[in-house]
Amino acid sequence: EPAALKRISETIWELPVSHKEGMLVPARIVASEKLIHEMDAGVFEQVSNVATLPGIQRYAYCMPDGHWGYGFPIGGVAAMDPGSGVISPGGIGFDINCGMRLVLTNLTAEQVQPKLHQLVDRLFARIPTGVGCHGFIKMKGDDFRSVVQQGSRWCLKNGFATQQDLDMTEEGGCFAGADASDVSQKAVERGYNQLGTLGSGNHYCEIQVVQPQNIMDQQLSEAFGLTTVPNQVVIMFHCGSRGFGHQVATDYLKLFLSVMERKYGIKIVDRELACAPFHSPEGQAYFSAMKCAVNMAFANRQVILHRIREVFSDLFHASPDELGMRMVYDVAHNTAKLERHLVNGSRKELLVHRKGSTRAFGPGLPGLPECYQKTGQPVIIGGSMETGSYLLAGMSTGGDAWFTTAHGSGRTMSRHEAKKNFRGDQLQRDMEQRGIYVRTDSFGGLAEEAGAAYKNIDEVVEATELAGLSKRVARLVPIGNIKG
Ligand code: 5GP
Ligand code: MN
Ligand code: MN
Repeated sequence: EPAALKRISETIWELPVSHKEGMLVPARIVASEKLIHEMDAGVFEQVSNVATLPGIQRYAYCMPDGHWGYGFPIGGVAAMDPGSGVISPGGIGFDINCGMRLVLTNLTAEQVQPKLHQLVDRLFARIPTGVGCHGFIKMKGDDFRSVVQQGSRWCLKNGFATQQDLDMTEEGGCFAGADASDVSQKAVERGYNQLGTLGSGNHYCEIQVVQPQNIMDQQLSEAFGLTTVPNQVVIMFHCGSRGFGHQVATDYLKLFLSVMERKYGIKIVDRELACAPFHSPEGQAYFSAMKCAVNMAFANRQVILHRIREVFSDLFHASPDELGMRMVYDVAHNTAKLERHLVNGSRKELLVHRKGSTRAFGPGLPGLPECYQKTGQPVIIGGSMETGSYLLAGMSTGGDAWFTTAHGSGRTMSRHEAKKNFRGDQLQRDMEQRGIYVRTDSFGGLAEEAGAAYKNIDEVVEATELAGLSKRVARLVPIGNIKG
């Protein structure tokens, strides 16, 4: 790691502004000693680059699952003053509103085990997976424009959601101010037949078990609905805005590169940090287009949930309600949002970029559903298909990092490297031996997702708890998975 790196506390490390020319604020990395030593060198480079962006407040952050990404590190967090600062697509990611959703059932592992193969096979048959997969809802471009403006509300109107689903989704499943006229025809063409699709690679739908010995906070586990039955089965899934979000990001990166320096005189240290003043016409158009992609992703996860409910209902001969199929929460990990935070003792509106990092509001923060006012926000964190995942809760001590935490374990190995080290078909058989039934349409893709290609999830979430960002509620163990 860089010589200038200073240890601030057990889990906070800092690069001062003197570390790199142009840094406006220090860069901070959340990690244990072990995780900081293993940290991808690209993280130090990129998080200090982020600290040079106009309008950045307090610190540029990287979470313990951090690794190299496009412009910003994955795991990056940066809050800008909306008046003087910029918005940067690299601080949000190409898969806009990639996120995680956790759904309860009242089934026990013992009840699901005899039907596990059937369950996973049916999910695999009913939820389209793979790079270019298409959804089952036939729609025209104009219908799709309604989807991207309304998000989960479109799903409610069209019979794919309940009001409770919307209540348990960040921002009710719709970012206000999304105007479809800010997205290109090409983006619409890439998106309109992808609603209700998982996509490829790291995206998944996993059947998990809450084992009694893995309940870390009894009270919060109860509040989040994880203790209905012993060895309760839950469903965690992860996907985003598919080709649509990717095209929005691509379109605006290109636009920003053409106006940033010429029109706004902004010089950046890395082209991948392309940005525009938040209040410029270009910045505002991107903010609106980004919200369209956010809403597409909420609707995408909602339609997938509808399919999951159908599959469970058919197989277990009971309605989704009878099966207790309620959402715990849906959290985004690739967004920028206007939020009010305390800065030097007064509340200030900030544009918070979170890229591979999750909002983790502590108890009492505005915007949480009534039922989570006392507990703090449920935070859903993937580990890997082999090792396990977590449900965490936001803490009241997370203010320094704008109430943000990690989003997963984070890669240690590039996809390319993982593919050299593992074989998908072998991995599938090994996992089956260990009680995890996984289906995929790409063995190459599966090899890239081997547990050993990711950091240790237990270490990552422990670091977030020690840093006061998110508290461990329960560890979730996989038994079945469909991988994109
Ligand atoms: P992203 O792709 O959004 O950067 O990362 C999502 C996180 O999900 C990864 O960092 C990894 O920890 C986790 N993850 C990836 N694939 C799987 C999977 O199949 N199952 C689970 N439980 N977690 C996964
Ligand atoms: Mn994604
Ligand atoms: Mn993701």
